[in-house]
Amino acid sequence: MSTPIIHQTAAEMSADLASGSVTAVELANAHYDRIAAVDGDVHAFLHLDREGALAQAASVDASRKAGEKLHPLAGVPLALKDVLTQKGVPTTCGSKMLEGWRPPYDSTVVANLKKAGVVILGKTNMDEFAMGSSTENSAYGPTHNPWDLSRIPGGSGGGSSAALAAFEAPLAIGTDTGGSIRQPAAVTGTVGVKPTYGAVSRYGLVAFSSSLDQAGPCARTVLDTAMLHEVIAGYDAKDSTSINAPVGKMIEAAKKLDVKGMKIGVVKELSGEGYQAGVLTRFNEALDLLVAAGAEIVEVSTPSFEYALAAYYLIAPSETSSNLARFDSMRYGIRIGDDGSRSAEEVMNMTREVGFGKEVKRRIILGTYALSSGYYDAYYGSAQKVRTLIKRDYEAAFAKVDVLVSPTCPTTAFKIGEKSDDPLAMYLNDVATIPVNLAGIGGMSLPCGLAPEDGLPVGFQIMSPALKDELMYHVGGTLEAALQSKWGKPLYASAPELAVK
Ligand code: GLN
Repeated sequence: MSTPIIHQTAAEMSADLASGSVTAVELANAHYDRIAAVDGDVHAFLHLDREGALAQAASVDASRKAGEKLHPLAGVPLALKDVLTQKGVPTTCGSKMLEGWRPPYDSTVVANLKKAGVVILGKTNMDEFAMGSSTENSAYGPTHNPWDLSRIPGGSGGGSSAALAAFEAPLAIGTDTGGSIRQPAAVTGTVGVKPTYGAVSRYGLVAFSSSLDQAGPCARTVLDTAMLHEVIAGYDAKDSTSINAPVGKMIEAAKKLDVKGMKIGVVKELSGEGYQAGVLTRFNEALDLLVAAGAEIVEVSTPSFEYALAAYYLIAPSETSSNLARFDSMRYGIRIGDDGSRSAEEVMNMTREVGFGKEVKRRIILGTYALSSGYYDAYYGSAQKVRTLIKRDYEAAFAKVDVLVSPTCPTTAFKIGEKSDDPLAMYLNDVATIPVNLAGIGGMSLPCGLAPEDGLPVGFQIMSPALKDELMYHVGGTLEAALQSKWGKPLYASAPELAVK
């Protein structure tokens, strides 16, 4: 039996498009059929832009027919996290606040995708304004993990990763402020990359915590994420924190199949106590494969990581309290109570009361408190100092090793509802992903197997020094190849509940 087209990788779809054995319109329609069949169960998408996607696909097909030279990803479908603007297409950020808003401009990520001819199928579900680790904080209902529909798909970008795992799209875009690309990738058995801060433009990325936010590529394979990375990365004058440096050769790096002579550091603080036994089992097996592929493994200690979570949950809410002040009922989204009898301030208060969910309000209040005079130095100031210490821990570690590794998350996917009443338990999911954001370096998660105790995917995290994102692809590509030759097939091919027939 031949593999269904939606089961292929983006690289395979690209080859089929180039050879003419499938058209971009056929490919888009095959994915819309799949979405119609399974998204009632998964709820990965908030909005489908069938008309726009099919127009883009038809234009790619016409250009190909005319013999134009196209980008390799031209005609390949993609799912876009609903926190990036796409001209004329609803952008809600998973919030009621922005219901009905159609941005008048494309984010730079979207502009780059369009330029390459990528076909954007629709917008994916997320925790409200990207705050959360389970996608349960969406105002539009949770997304379900395709491996077990009673479980969370991670967050905040659970919709993007679930769409990949359920074969609703071969490529997706996520954003990662404290782990929102890597943690969903880990629990859905897919790949997700948070590039170096500043490598991908934030123009048109609705801000949560501006000094941490970064968009990145998600897919089912390391090579596919590398292809997408090269499309979305690059200097952009519209983002003042954009880095003016050439984009590295991610595709080339992803194709390297050994790590001879490389030194890989296992972060002691992120790979022991508090981690599920089966997560550590699969993580350690992956380390053995890297040794077999030529790497030397050493243990590295990063003592300041102990304070990373606390520092993040002061810095991110502080920036949130400022960034979300723009939702004032005047400029974007909904407006409540404006019947002529109320002052602008009353309308603003009513709108923010109705428009924001519980977690967003919690963060605004926390952040406002952390920034208040009298407390500023004790909270926000101290958190910024911790940030410096974490950066120094990484610098010291990268003086000894090429990359650092850890499990991406302490556990596999938990049940929907299990942690929704316990914000601290929810925050602890991010313990291994947050240090990367605080330091502004690169982080990747790729699947390293299924935990023996529950049969759910385990994520392997690779961290690379700033602007050396190629190293993640190099090590990730090598590990993925070693794992696949051990298993005889890619992990994503075994998702039980929604297996492609
Ligand atoms: N889970 C983290 C939070 O709730 C990270 C979210 C993100 O990366 N957008 O803040």
